[in-house]
Amino acid sequence: MSTNEDKILLHICCAPCATYPTKFFNENGYLYDGYFYNPNIHPESEYNLRLENVRKLSGIREFKLIVEDEYNEADWILYKEVPTRCQKCYNIRLRKAFEYAQKNSYKAVTSTLLISPYQQHEMIIDIANSYSNYYNVPFHYIDFRPHFREGQNEARELGFYRQKYCGCLSSLEDKLDFDIKKEEKKGMKDNG
Ligand code: SF4
Repeated sequence: MSTNEDKILLHICCAPCATYPTKFFNENGYLYDGYFYNPNIHPESEYNLRLENVRKLSGIREFKLIVEDEYNEADWILYKEVPTRCQKCYNIRLRKAFEYAQKNSYKAVTSTLLISPYQQHEMIIDIANSYSNYYNVPFHYIDFRPHFREGQNEARELGFYRQKYCGCLSSLEDKLDFDIKKEEKKGMKDNG
């Protein structure tokens, strides 16, 4: 029987981003557990929806899912701008994953954040490396980005909810601003 010492702890941000990495791990014989800790997803109904979809994925891919079911977006409200807010966000999520991995003797840690071309990839690597040193747990880096589309397509086929914004309140506001500007531009074009 495998123990945590044989396993990678895979921090999971959402089901669509985890669809490819978990397929890759299963196909390549990786031993791993999923770890959901994303306390700033806004609003809480969205948080619940994303968690529910990650639970569905764990059923399909047959991996154990550890859920740190903590909803606390208040800490993020002060941090509105990219990249500062994302730096704080990666810090909090990855610190907790490495801390959990250390306490529970996992072999290494990685994150599904590494698949998204919309995330600050180098920043994620730097933060993961610093927590890896601090907690003395290896960071298992894989650049999943070339498979982002493939993962999203499979997530669609599996019927997962696919969100249109990253997660926090500020990212939702950015998305709404973007949509309004797009509509305005379209209106200007339609009106000649
Ligand atoms: S945009 Fe995404 S990564 Fe950045 S702070 Fe918001 S939820 Fe976190």
